[in-house]
Formats: sequence, C-alpha cells, structure tokens
Amino acid sequence: MESEVNLTKTYDAIVIGSGAAGGMAAHVLTSHGLQVLLLEAGKKLPIEKELRSMEWPYDNPYRGSLPPDQHSLTFNEYTIRNPPYGAGFEKAKHLRSYVGNTDYLKNIVVDERDNPFTGTNYAWVRARCLGGKTNIWGRLALRLSDYDFKAKSRDGYGEDWPISYSDIAPYYDKVDLYLGITGVKENLPHLPDSIFQRPTKLNCAEVTLKDSLAKMGRVLTQYRAGVTTDGLKHNKYRSRCYGRGACERKGGCDIHAAFDSSTGLIYPAMDTGNLALRTNAVVREITIDPQTGNASGVHFIDNQTMKDYAVHAKVVVVAASTLESARLLLLSKSRLHPNGLANSSGHVGHNFCEHIMGPGVAGRAKNLVGKPPTLDDGRPGGFYLTRFRNLAEKNPKFIRGYGFEGGGGSTMFPRGTDAHGFGAAFKEEVRKNQGAFIGMGAFGEVLARYENYVDLDPVVKDKWGIPALRFHYKFGDNEHRMAEDMKETAQEMFEAAGFEIVRVNSRVLTEGWSIHELGTARMGSDPKTSVLNQFQQSHDVKNLFVVDGSAFVNASCQNPTWTIMSLCWRSCDYLADEMKKGNL
Ligand SMILES: Cc1cc2nc3c(=O)[nH]c(=O)nc-3n(C[C@H](O)[C@H](O)[C@H](O)COP(=O)(O)OP(=O)(O)OC[C@H]3O[C@@H](n4cnc5c(N)ncnc54)[C@H](O)[C@@H]3O)c2cc1C
Ligand code: SF4
Repeated sequence: MESEVNLTKTYDAIVIGSGAAGGMAAHVLTSHGLQVLLLEAGKKLPIEKELRSMEWPYDNPYRGSLPPDQHSLTFNEYTIRNPPYGAGFEKAKHLRSYVGNTDYLKNIVVDERDNPFTGTNYAWVRARCLGGKTNIWGRLALRLSDYDFKAKSRDGYGEDWPISYSDIAPYYDKVDLYLGITGVKENLPHLPDSIFQRPTKLNCAEVTLKDSLAKMGRVLTQYRAGVTTDGLKHNKYRSRCYGRGACERKGGCDIHAAFDSSTGLIYPAMDTGNLALRTNAVVREITIDPQTGNASGVHFIDNQTMKDYAVHAKVVVVAASTLESARLLLLSKSRLHPNGLANSSGHVGHNFCEHIMGPGVAGRAKNLVGKPPTLDDGRPGGFYLTRFRNLAEKNPKFIRGYGFEGGGGSTMFPRGTDAHGFGAAFKEEVRKNQGAFIGMGAFGEVLARYENYVDLDPVVKDKWGIPALRFHYKFGDNEHRMAEDMKETAQEMFEAAGFEIVRVNSRVLTEGWSIHELGTARMGSDPKTSVLNQFQQSHDVKNLFVVDGSAFVNASCQNPTWTIMSLCWRSCDYLADEMKKGNL
C-alpha cells in the first residue's frame, strides 16, 4: 500500500509520525485536498499476523509470553537500574519496555537498546511502526472538560488552556462519528458525553459497585472505548466489535473494531490519492530556510539502509508523540533557532506531565463465589469510575483529581483469586473464585511543572547516531498525597459495596507507566511562556505545527488520545484554511 515518494517535489505538508496525531493530520489535510507526505520511523508490519487476536495460549509456543532471547523490563528493573538499560541484560538479544512482555507485541514496541534514553527513571513505552501506539492502546476514550481547560481559574495552579470546551466540542463530535466510540451518557459536567454507539454491559459485580457508589454520589459508567460496536459504513478497513474477548489479552484488535491509526485514518487518507507514505523514515532534523527562518522540510535517515534524505514542504506538521516531538524540536538547532526550533520561550521539553498510577484494589463479590462461569471478557473494557475529588469540594491534601479503570468477572486468564496450594484442590479454588473477582486501579493527574523536563543527552546516541533524550522528571508531593487518597478511597468503596478485599496495591508505579506523556510544547496565548498557539502552530515559526500531546497545558486525569485527535483535527482545519488564504 506504500506509495512512491517524490523527493524532488515540494509537498504542501510533511507529517512526521503515523500514530493517533499523525494519522489524524494525514486524514484531515488530505480531505482538504492538500498533497501530504507522511513519514514514519518504523515499518509497516503485517499487523494482523502480529496481533493474532484469536490465538489461544496453548496454540502459541510460548503460551503468549516472549521468546527466551527477549526480555521485558520489570518494575524493579526500572526502579533499581539506571537508564539506558544496557549492561546486566546480556542474555536478552532484545530488550523491551514493560508493555512488550508478550509474543504479540514484541515487534511493535521498540528495542530499548537501539532506542536508549538517560536520566531519571522512566518507563518509556514506544511503538515504532505504522500506527504507533494506537496498534496496542487500551482504547479508553474520554473527553476533557472546562474543569481541565480552566483548571487554573479553579485552583490557581499552572496555566489555563487558550481554549474552552466549547471550542473543541464540535471536533470531539467529529472524532466520535468518524472513528466510533462505545459508552453510556451520564450528563456529567466534568466528563462530557460522546456520541456513543451501542454500549457494552456491566456484569453483576460491577452493577453492585455502581449502585453502591451512587449512594456516595460517585459515578461508575461503562468503559468508554474507542471501538466501533455498530460498525462504520464509511470505513471498509474496520469491522464492528463482535466481542471476541481478545481485548482482555492486552494487544491490538486484528479486525480493527478498536481504533488504530492505520485502518481508521491512514488507509482512508491514501484512498483520496493525496497521501504519500514513507515508512522506515527516521526524521532527525526539521530544516529551515536561512532567509526567513521558516521550516523548509526535513532530513530523514532510512531505518534499514542508514541513508540520509532531504525532503521539502510548505508546512511541517510534527506528530512523533510528545517526547519524540520535543526531541526533534531540540535536535533542530540552527543559527536562527539556537535553542532548538520553536523554542524562543525555552519551554520546549518542559512542563512535561502525565498520569500517576499504581494504587488500586482487588476484591471478591462473595455472592458470586462458586457460581457457574459467565463470559465477561467479550467486551473492550469493564468500567470507568469518574473523578470525584476537587469538583464541588476542595480537598485539603491535594489539588486536581483521579479516576479508576476496572473490571470484574470471568476472563480467559483467572484474575485475583489469591488461591494457594497445588493440584486439583488449587484448580478447584481458582474455578470457584475467579468469576467473583473485581478490581480497579487509579489514574491521577500529575501537575505540569517547569522543573519536570527532557533535554538531549550530550553523549548517548541511538542506533541512527541521533542524540538520545535525557529525563529530569519526578512525581511531586501533590501526586504522592493523591496516591495515598486513591488507596484509601479504593478500599472504602469496595468495603461499602460489600466486597471482600483480596489485595490492596499501595505501590506507586514508575514514572511513565501510564503511557500518557504530555505537555512538552504547551499551547498558550503568551509566546514567552508557551510554544504553540491555540491551533498548535509555533509562535516562532508560522509554518510549523506540533499536533500531538506535546501541546497539552495540563494532563487532567482523563486518558488523552481522543483529545489529541480532536485538537489535531481543529488545528489541521485551521492550517488548511490558512493555506487557502495564502498565509502559509
Ligand atoms: C499499552 C497502551 C495502552 C494505552 N491505553 C490508552 C488508553 O486507554 N486511552 C488513551 O487515551 N491512551 C492510551 N494509550 C496512549 C495512546 O496510545 C497515545 O496517547 C497515542 O497513541 C498518542 O498518539 P501519538 O500520535 O502522539 O503517538 P504514537 O501513537 O506513539 O505515534 C507516534 C509515531 O511517530 C513515530 N515517530 C517517532 N519519532 C519519529 C521520527 N523521528 N521520525 C518519524 N517518525 C517518528 C513513531 O514511530 C510512531 O509511529 C495507551 C498506550 C499504550 C502503549
Ligand atoms: S472485544 Fe471487540 S474490540 Fe476487543 S479484540 Fe475483540 S473484536 Fe476487537
């Protein structure tokens, strides 16, 4: 499906990266008739063969685990060892992030050795292939609200976004309709509803929890998944979800009911005839016209041959994911932009934020112990327990909020049974208890702070000779106080629902674990304290746009991908309009 790339042509736009943001940019710009070149550092994988969503564990030589010559980093390794994770892993030919711990994901997530980084501990999960992380994302698709966009006006911390919910709401609607989302309307001001397709069903234990929470004024709703449950007539590359249960296995969906950027956005964009795609293209620098200081194109290295190429465009759209985009801006230093591109403010790489996770609880619905098994994993997710802190009330210990993702019931691999012993008695214990399982884990807002940042390592380089990213990033007191509260409220809510508590997780997971990195080129109205304007256009370089999570002003506690794509759609509409007017 890859098209010929004409390196002598000046494209209307070059888009760097093919994940949620790059795919959306390609879709919107080509639909406006622009000639677009999409550059992706990784390969186009035979993705259905990688994911094999219907394969049973006993049909896999490793029962779904990694082959013996590969290793995926564990919590302790992230915590005790210092990046880059080279020495100490000699037996492993390939080293993967914690996510890459299955046979199905081994070619999707990067080899940490080829892609090193340094500095403070960080569980950095990267997927270098067509579609990026959307091939394996968890699909929880949530909107932000003015509780997030105007958070500073509410609690005085940080900055407000230069947009309000009303600016982005029409674009959330467009994303819902174009890509499909399942869920249930709740009419919550802090978690606006989407235009939902057929919802999935809560199971018995989940309904018990929902009813109990309602008495506490808290809202549990069906998992809002970026999955089409009714199908999408306008997209021939995707099928509707028929609940095969493979979502549970943590991997992609090989019939593409779950959104991924390739089938959801890039293939339809190629069908317009306006998109050229070049994979294996590792962009190492955005080039500048020395007369105007504007972007003129990019240099990229072929991932396989190591050959260097230059290609030109009227506009450069950066969508390499929050941290890679910051790296690319910092790499693109020139006489006119000595601090890195778009960085006259000095804010590129700073205000880096994300979600804190770890605290949670596992329990047993006693009335379900010993009941016949039910099919509970034939759906793309369990439930989402929406934020309840710092809405009407002000918490004395921390600002901002958190939500819980969770689920219960029988799944392919029994969960949380705490059964001990051996042989037949052990199996009987597992069988009896597994359908009664219910568990949930929190995701909370990490505050955007200038002191949390990334820069370039002066020594370490990746396989392509490109300087590696160096982390200076730690959770702060607000996050740790919030994590304490997560642990307490999780127990309190399970106890109130009458569940027997089997396990309480109080450990905070390593920075980065949420895979929701945001904020390294934030938007704002003041060019002195922000990198981009409200249309994700550089304040300094008017034909440069950064359309991924870099632009976020704060992380909120909602998962970011639906917002990344909605903002990107809005910005690309603006870009196309400006181009038509001759301003770009
Ligand atoms: C296991 C997992 C679960 C997740 N669950 C959720 C969830 O439930 N909800 C949610 O909202 N989000 C979730 N996420 C996060 C979600 O995947 C990301 O928010 C989303 O993919 C970000 O899109 P992006 O385009 O910015 O980055 P990516 O999807 O990472 O795409 C970036 C692309 O740019 C390419 N690239 C990078 N550098 C260069 C370069 N120099 N030159 C050329 N190309 C380059 C990469 O190869 C990649 O393909 C999850 C992620 C993972 C891995
Ligand atoms: S449950 Fe639905 S979305 Fe999940 S893997 Fe199966 S078909 Fe795909």
